[in-house]
Amino acid sequence: VPELPEVEHVRRQLRPAMEGARFERVTVRRRDLRRTLPGDFSSRLEGTAVRSLRRRAKYLLADLSSADTLVMHLGMSGSFSVSKGPVELSAHDHVAFEMSSGATVVFNDPRRFGSMRIVTGADIERDPTLGSLGPEPLDRRFDASALGAALRGRRTTLKAALSDQRVIGGLGNNYVTEALHRAGLSPRRRASTLVTRSGSPTPALNRLVKGIRAALLDALSSQDGDRFRVYDREGCRCLRRGCAGSIRRVVLGGRSTFFCAECQR
Ligand SMILES: [Zn+2]
Repeated sequence: VPELPEVEHVRRQLRPAMEGARFERVTVRRRDLRRTLPGDFSSRLEGTAVRSLRRRAKYLLADLSSADTLVMHLGMSGSFSVSKGPVELSAHDHVAFEMSSGATVVFNDPRRFGSMRIVTGADIERDPTLGSLGPEPLDRRFDASALGAALRGRRTTLKAALSDQRVIGGLGNNYVTEALHRAGLSPRRRASTLVTRSGSPTPALNRLVKGIRAALLDALSSQDGDRFRVYDREGCRCLRRGCAGSIRRVVLGGRSTFFCAECQR
């Protein structure tokens, strides 16, 4: 399931094909994605240009010359491919953008949990979905006070709190798991324990902010490959220097979580 680093990789892949280019032809083969694509989806895009392609949490946002915004989400199994010139669409290719750059961008999604919608003009500023998102973890303004404010009074586990898009935007099972290991914090720990009674950050919260950034930045700088230290490594030795523990798997909130009981408290 794509999380912030994967969505950012997609953005970097799509940018040269889409930014500054017009939608020349938009083909919709299936409208029943997570949200049904409206009948005028293609006509609202065709002829408009993409001013910029941004990312917010796990969403991709294309700012259009029409002042509208195309908001895209990969869901569980969505992916984009970029080809030169027209392409023959195959199974699960639901939407194709033929751009004036000469590139064809195809959205493929076997499970159809992905979504695309067009938000009209300034409505993007008060969009309920985007407006409910927590801070962007790689933003300069993201720090222990910002995260502390969101965790204060949360009686859920750290795992659940950090996976909640209203607390912090863009993390999911994998990177929450990685960040907690880097921070030396148990996924089962209660979220509110990282904030003092008066609401100020604890040293553990400072470690968590560093852990989140490090996990995301490592993933952004690596191309696929071996980017997880704990995720899916049940039974392996803990990679923290000086730790003799090994990685355990527990199920929290229906999802597998991996952690080292030795150094994550
Ligand atoms: Zn350990």
